[in-house]
Amino acid sequence: MSGLAGHIRTESARLAALCTACGGCVTACPMTPYAAGVDAAEPGTVAAGMRDVLRDGPGSPAALAWIAACTRSGICTPACPEGLDAAFMLRLAQWRAKGALGTAPLIPVKEDTQYSPKVKAFARLTLTEEEQARWL
Ligand code: SF4
Repeated sequence: MSGLAGHIRTESARLAALCTACGGCVTACPMTPYAAGVDAAEPGTVAAGMRDVLRDGPGSPAALAWIAACTRSGICTPACPEGLDAAFMLRLAQWRAKGALGTAPLIPVKEDTQYSPKVKAFARLTLTEEEQARWL
């Protein structure tokens, strides 16, 4: 496996293995009131669903709502007691949930025509220039 898809898979697996699903990132997130079912759920359960998406799983309705609601505030990252880049985990989860690896989307994808099934084209829409230089 190579290229961006490989990076996504490798980083997903690495971060998912380190995440304890403590829920700290969910608790810190300012978007949870806008994600259906998240405030009513146990934060660790929502985080576990996000971690499941990183492991090719289906996640959970609350986790998918949380993933879809991410606006990259970045507030989650300093809240992680494991020192993980939680914001990046959410981005990986959002890419995957939108079908960046060629699987059927798990969350609504805005403007379908802009999301090419080719991972590289998809990622260009969301990676910063510096990240593109590193990843593509
Ligand atoms: S705060 Fe860190 S360890 Fe806890 S669920 Fe979020 S990413 Fe995982």
